[in-house]
Amino acid sequence: MGYCIFCQIIKGKIPCYKVYENKDFLGFLDIYPLNPGHILLIPKKHYRWVNQVSDFGKYWEIAGKLSRAIEKVLKADYSCFITLGQEVAHAHIHIIPRYLKDDLGDTIDWSKKKKIDKEKMKEISKNIFQEVSKLRTGEVQDA
Ligand code: AMP
Ligand code: ZN
Repeated sequence: MGYCIFCQIIKGKIPCYKVYENKDFLGFLDIYPLNPGHILLIPKKHYRWVNQVSDFGKYWEIAGKLSRAIEKVLKADYSCFITLGQEVAHAHIHIIPRYLKDDLGDTIDWSKKKKIDKEKMKEISKNIFQEVSKLRTGEVQDA
């Protein structure tokens, strides 16, 4: 395996706006979000593709919790999940807040990625982190 930017994030060598962490998975904001609150959820162990991740069910369970957290924090109408892996070769699930009238279209227009200022990214990640911590309490022990 060559250089992997997401492995560098896991090692703490590259910063991220963290929204979730347990022993096996890390969630952080996509640096160029389609909408504010766009998350990437990755396994800490390097896998090339999402369907290779062990504990696949747990992986999607956490993705589901994160999607509910972003819907609440970003007041989204709904949220969607996408797995692509064309740009970064470390398995990741995109979790994206959606609005009935946003600019992404029915099939997601990837040219609509946005740049959000650092303070706003920090605030969004903090709010999602807190919201998902609430969802964790008492539900699934180490999700
Ligand atoms: P893809 O591999 O096609 O699913 O896209 C990879 C995603 O990772 C893109 O949406 C990028 O904006 C995002 N990305 C790349 N580098 C970083 C980084 N250092 N921090 C957060 N997101 C990143
Ligand atoms: Zn990696």
